[in-house]
Amino acid sequence: RFITFEGIDGAGKSSHIEAVAQALEQVGHRLLRTREPGGTELAERLRELFLHERMDALTEALLVFGARRDHLVRCIEPALAEGRTVLCDRFTDATFAYQGAGRGFDLAVLGQLESWVQQGRQPDLTLWFDVAPEIAAARRAGARAPDRLESEESAFFERVRAGYAARAAAAPERFVRIDAGQSLEAVRADVLATVRARTAS
Ligand code: C5P
Repeated sequence: RFITFEGIDGAGKSSHIEAVAQALEQVGHRLLRTREPGGTELAERLRELFLHERMDALTEALLVFGARRDHLVRCIEPALAEGRTVLCDRFTDATFAYQGAGRGFDLAVLGQLESWVQQGRQPDLTLWFDVAPEIAAARRAGARAPDRLESEESAFFERVRAGYAARAAAAPERFVRIDAGQSLEAVRADVLATVRARTAS
């Protein structure tokens, strides 16, 4: 099975992946834990360029999908073929949410790149950690009030959030929305219950 974890920065997804990994290992899953952008040596190098170099929107989209292709071919597909459960921190939904909804890049072009690069491969389950941008910003900043720049940022993350909502609406059988505005313990309980229910067969 292929399970992905999505949400805006500060939603807290990364901290829950560890709990999911432990729970699945306990019931005998062999795991591959990985992330995007990245996940292979080449894709991690592309991630560094993506995070630190200035580039136009199409270059950014091509770079992310180039990294994804390498990650799929060299890492994710072989792991799935061996019967491993793949846990991936972000995947293509992030590209639609960040590059598409967030930065306004053409969603139809992203859809074409998705088809070319993935050849029909989609996650079996996507946990979407959904939280209001103000709460996420406060978590990122250590619970102080947002300053002016962070308020502008909050409009960006509102668009990213809407992008995730649109992807979730288009693939309701794959997406499970987790209310990430709850306490850490409540989020953890929801996450583990969802993963147990969806991997129990
Ligand atoms: O999830 P992670 O912290 O690894 O993401 C690294 C950074 O890359 C984050 O700031 C995230 O907002 C950004 N990102 C992006 N577009 C993507 C994936 C991640 O802008 N498709």
